[in-house]
Amino acid sequence: MRPFRYERARDVPSACTSAAHPGTRFIAGGTNLVDLMKLEIEAPAHLVDIGRLPLNGIDETAEGGLRIGARVTNTAVAVDLRVRRRYPLLSQAILAGASTQLRNKATTGGNLLQRTRCPYFYDTTKPCNKRVPRSGCAALEGINRMNAVLGVSDHCIAAHPSDMAVAMTALDARVETIAPDGSRRTIPIDALYRPPGDTPHIETVLEPGELIVSVLLPPPPPGRQVYRKVRDRASFAFALVSVAAIVELDGDRVRAARVAFGGISYKPWRSAEAEAALVGAPATRASFDAAGIAALRDARGHGHNDFKIPLARRTLRATLAAAASS
Ligand code: SF4
Repeated sequence: MRPFRYERARDVPSACTSAAHPGTRFIAGGTNLVDLMKLEIEAPAHLVDIGRLPLNGIDETAEGGLRIGARVTNTAVAVDLRVRRRYPLLSQAILAGASTQLRNKATTGGNLLQRTRCPYFYDTTKPCNKRVPRSGCAALEGINRMNAVLGVSDHCIAAHPSDMAVAMTALDARVETIAPDGSRRTIPIDALYRPPGDTPHIETVLEPGELIVSVLLPPPPPGRQVYRKVRDRASFAFALVSVAAIVELDGDRVRAARVAFGGISYKPWRSAEAEAALVGAPATRASFDAAGIAALRDARGHGHNDFKIPLARRTLRATLAAAASS
């Protein structure tokens, strides 16, 4: 690990001002960044520790939702009774991720910003446009079974690893930020992540020094919520494919549906195509299969990860069936 300067932030404005300088990173739980620093994949000159800032509450909002502070741990969100009762999808997704020890340290803001688990991103002997811009992408011709099939580019096919963010995407969460000049933004979670294009090292729309302070959950939509994750082993493994689904029925037909996938794109992938195919359709296996075909129509595999396309369709079908059963 390379030497770095450490600063414990006293308040949000000074944290943002410090972090606006090049080579500076925020740190909270550190469950991803410290690993990357040990491998010298990230080598910040200056760390701003936000671990004591008052961003650790889960509060009711006037509109009937919840505001989750950026420092709230994944465990605290997953076990919160309001989350379990009103947003069970979110609790299920968080508990499907990582391990108990990691969830006890990992924070809400950090989870959203965690970096890809593409194996070549971690292998400093291999080219990787995300780690070293314009160096190439070893995954395109390499072992890419964990990589993405939708929304990516010929410069990077990395998948976003978060489970929590997939549930938040289905729930229409919004990310609240503060910039070094004191200005505030509210960013729909779906707009937080930048497509890789030819600059895959730039992963979000956040500006230097802009700090995620909270995540806003709107009131829960009507319908049943289900999160399903398919992975290589039953715990402590990233998703090959995951699906967050919310289905509201009107008799035996779908009145409304929300669908988001994990493990198949550079971000949690909300599928407007699947949702459009479901609304008004009978809640049957044929309709769920049609939604899967619509959702994956533009998907493209790269050899080892071709299996993700049929797997995503089958996982969607199973998740929708569970959400449509009462
Ligand atoms: Fe790097 Fe992205 Fe290629 Fe993986 S897919 S090697 S992260 S550029």
